[in-house]
Amino acid sequence: MAIPVLTRPAVLPKGVSPRTFSRAIREFTRIVGDRNVSVSSAELVPYAHDVIMIPPIWPSAVVRPGSVEEIQRVVRVANALRIPLWPLSTGKNIAYGRMMAVDGGNVILDLGRMNRILEINEPLAYAVVEPGVTYAQLYKHLRERNLPLWLDPPATAPGAGPLGNTVERGVGYTPYGEHFLFSCGMEIVLPDGRLLRTGSGALPGSRTWHIFKWGFGPYLDGLFTASNYGIVTKLGIWLMPEPPAYQPILMTFPNEDDIGAIMDFLRPLKITHLLPSAVVVAHALLALAAEADYPWHLTGGTRPVPEDWVRAEAAKRMLDTWNVAGCVYGSPAVVAEVAATVRRKVAAELPHARVLDLDEALQSPYWDHKVRNMTGVPSMIEYGRLSWRGGGNAFVAPVVPLYGAEAAKHMEIARPLFQKYGFDYIGEFIAASRDQHHVMMLLHKQPEEMDRARRCYRELTDAFCDQGYLPYRTNVAFMEHTMSRLDPVFQDVCMRIKEALDPNGILAPGKNGIRLPPPRRSGRTLTRRARRPASRKSRRPGGGRSR
Ligand code: ADP
Repeated sequence: MAIPVLTRPAVLPKGVSPRTFSRAIREFTRIVGDRNVSVSSAELVPYAHDVIMIPPIWPSAVVRPGSVEEIQRVVRVANALRIPLWPLSTGKNIAYGRMMAVDGGNVILDLGRMNRILEINEPLAYAVVEPGVTYAQLYKHLRERNLPLWLDPPATAPGAGPLGNTVERGVGYTPYGEHFLFSCGMEIVLPDGRLLRTGSGALPGSRTWHIFKWGFGPYLDGLFTASNYGIVTKLGIWLMPEPPAYQPILMTFPNEDDIGAIMDFLRPLKITHLLPSAVVVAHALLALAAEADYPWHLTGGTRPVPEDWVRAEAAKRMLDTWNVAGCVYGSPAVVAEVAATVRRKVAAELPHARVLDLDEALQSPYWDHKVRNMTGVPSMIEYGRLSWRGGGNAFVAPVVPLYGAEAAKHMEIARPLFQKYGFDYIGEFIAASRDQHHVMMLLHKQPEEMDRARRCYRELTDAFCDQGYLPYRTNVAFMEHTMSRLDPVFQDVCMRIKEALDPNGILAPGKNGIRLPPPRRSGRTLTRRARRPASRKSRRPGGGRSR
């Protein structure tokens, strides 16, 4: 995943003169100190590149504030001088754009220095974190203090953080896997620099900020997820009390068309919470891509990986076409009873299932990783998958009703499209309580296949949207396109909220497809053009002006 480019075209924020930009940099430096502001190409490299199918998008600068007050002051300067800011927390955002902004020329507001764990409340089982806190850091903190609390890391990156992941509505694998659902109480710097505390935190001296989500009046927290309405500076997250016992249930299935039976089997178990973990149903190649070497000698990198290679490599690792991981938690007696019930049902209803012996399965890195995911332990194994086929990766992630026939239909849509563009289908279905996230990885070679990968990504997005399946999250290059697929009233409401909270449009323009139209000059005053819902033509990434 080496990023070779060290020089960049000098890029300014759109519509900002070199003089105004220099003034902004001087002001930012006064606020955060000169070590925490940079315009140097070498320092901007990581913010300009991702190993996804889009060319570099260069920011104009990076600013690293160290406190909420510094963020407030930076935001006020940015507002006065109309400088676009792109906030990020731990900056992983893997396969969705990493540290890239939608437009070139943004000033990246890197909050990684703000990495304090502000509170751990053991009896009420919650933590309050700043943006730069990582899962690995929080895990270490809990273990060092021997606190009987679990967190819920995502599959790919211990270096990602609970705040950034939650504001992007990321998911994990324990019963607390829907991260936004298990968050409570935010502090937010608004685009005008004021500080908002959501939920119960709106009461000065609140005693219930991080334990009662709803507070009094409208519930605002959702507005600050998957949007660009504010900079989240504190977040309460609920932690799962360590259960006295747990038992993973691991199974494999030989046929691709077993997927329908698997998902129909899981629906009642998920909806009744008999299986409270997220249940991952991963295709063989997804697991292999994390562990096996890509078979260049068989494909030359131009053909899909042969079936018999997949079967042979899978068999070496206790894997098969579909690989299912779920987990039961509770007292030893409850766990034993529920696990036995699930196994009996498997025996009765899923004739193709092979239930794995746990001790044996834990010898395989993939299964060991899955068990870690379901028991709150950060793990790196799946990281290997990101560079499997030459380094490019992007997620396509539509949400699907938890029916077997729907999963089968997804395979019918996805497989031919991956094939049409010369890529392997690499995917998994993750069963939540009523839906399944169908997460597919587009793994492509850098830079030869970027254009083809981009076309494939777009066609997949459209094919799923055409059938009523919306991605829960998307890549920075496709945010505006995805928003353009939504109802104009929804788009209009998003724009109105943006206009109300960020009338100068300085915060993360284009994020999740929300962007104010440029101001129009009328006489001596600036007015905004009438609001227009985003067109279905997606914008080209990297809209900054050259210096
Ligand atoms: P992670 O490292 O956990 O994957 P990131 O820090 O990369 O998360 O954040 C992912 C995206 O979420 C960022 O690109 C940004 O758009 C948004 N984001 C992250 N942190 C904040 C924040 N504190 N306030 C507002 N938006 C944020």
